[in-house]
Amino acid sequence: MLVDIAVIGNGPTARLAAHAFCACGESVVMIGPDANRSADPRTTALMPSSVESLDALGIDVRTRATPLLDLRIETTGPFGIVSELFTAEDAGEDFLAQNLFIRDLMDVMPDVPQHKATVTGVLPSADSVRIATDDGKTIEARLVIAADGLQSLAREAAGIRMRKKPLGRSALCVPVRLEHPHERLCIERYDDTGTLTLIPVAEHDASLITIASPDEIAALSAHPDETIERKLTRRQDTFGHIAFTGPKAVFPLALGFTPQPARDRIVVIGESAHIAPPIAAQGWNMSVRDIMTLRSLLTEAATKGEDIGSQQVLGAYAPRRQPDVAGRLSAIGALAGVATRPSGPQKLIRQAGLAAIGRFSGLKRGLMRAGLR
Ligand SMILES: Cc1cc2nc3c(=O)[nH]c(=O)nc-3n(C[C@H](O)[C@H](O)[C@H](O)COP(=O)(O)OP(=O)(O)OC[C@H]3O[C@@H](n4cnc5c(N)ncnc54)[C@H](O)[C@@H]3O)c2cc1C
Repeated sequence: MLVDIAVIGNGPTARLAAHAFCACGESVVMIGPDANRSADPRTTALMPSSVESLDALGIDVRTRATPLLDLRIETTGPFGIVSELFTAEDAGEDFLAQNLFIRDLMDVMPDVPQHKATVTGVLPSADSVRIATDDGKTIEARLVIAADGLQSLAREAAGIRMRKKPLGRSALCVPVRLEHPHERLCIERYDDTGTLTLIPVAEHDASLITIASPDEIAALSAHPDETIERKLTRRQDTFGHIAFTGPKAVFPLALGFTPQPARDRIVVIGESAHIAPPIAAQGWNMSVRDIMTLRSLLTEAATKGEDIGSQQVLGAYAPRRQPDVAGRLSAIGALAGVATRPSGPQKLIRQAGLAAIGRFSGLKRGLMRAGLR
């Protein structure tokens, strides 16, 4: 099979990329086995800019998503509990984010041409890339978009280097039912254990994420669910009792960045290209920006009759995309250091920082817009 663009992967990034590039008029195939996301406890909070990008691609997430209107950040420390409310109105937006389960995100995306197999080999050459799959087939493409996640085979094949830094922190994520309605309020608490965040979905449900040292997360996970529910409710009781509604999952956290994400007719996007901890909900929002940037670049190249896989075209991707990715990863890395380490100086810094943000409305609005746009 010969195509213009082969997208490797089967996650939300691959699916959106394949849809976006099909809409450009290129022949596209997504290569990856059918993915069962029913047990994935994660939700994705989509920022207003991502919701607009998806709208532009004909995908309306609002049919499945819950709009988040307010965010309360609470931090314990030497001054007791300091908390600050951030509202959509403060940011001049209708909502802070639209939050939905990853399985629902996959459901609202249109079907794309898919070769249902796992990629076993990727061989770039001057004019094309040959992709071998575990069903014995070979696909040849002028351009490969690698959206095959953290352990990307395509990234390795192109010799694209990822700089990765483990954060020495893990996240436990689980879908929960809240005793009282959340009224679209997301709460992020930084306490003596680490962080505990409740991100609302529907009326009484939420995605719960708690971040702490790997040992603490392992010890917490080892308890029966009822015990964990009690411990978590003791840390955050604003919405009453917290009850699990699905399986929990643990994610080791890291920061990762590919300074040169395009080489040898292969471009890495999504988690193949950048890794961020679930703080400030930037992860998949960066994937949406990757896709929109690449889409405009490839549309320009196709209009001019250029080879979409050439280094001349792909060479323009990093300068357009990487300043934003690097800036966001640096900010998330700094926040992760202060937010998830409950030692004395860190607690003082986060309380003083939060109090200062609350006092200066211009600073608050500026920070919110930088995170949301
Ligand atoms: C607890 C938690 C909460 C989060 N919350 C948010 C949030 O609120 N907002 C946000 O924007 N982001 C959030 N994120 C980040 C977001 O979930 C990820 O950015 C997103 O899921 C990455 O999608 P992806 O498609 O790039 O990668 P993946 O979902 O990892 O998909 C890659 C896929 O490629 C497939 N694959 C691998 N190798 C091959 C191969 N050889 N052949 C074919 N297929 C292959 C894999 O099976 C996998 O399914 C969160 C992350 C975590 C851990």
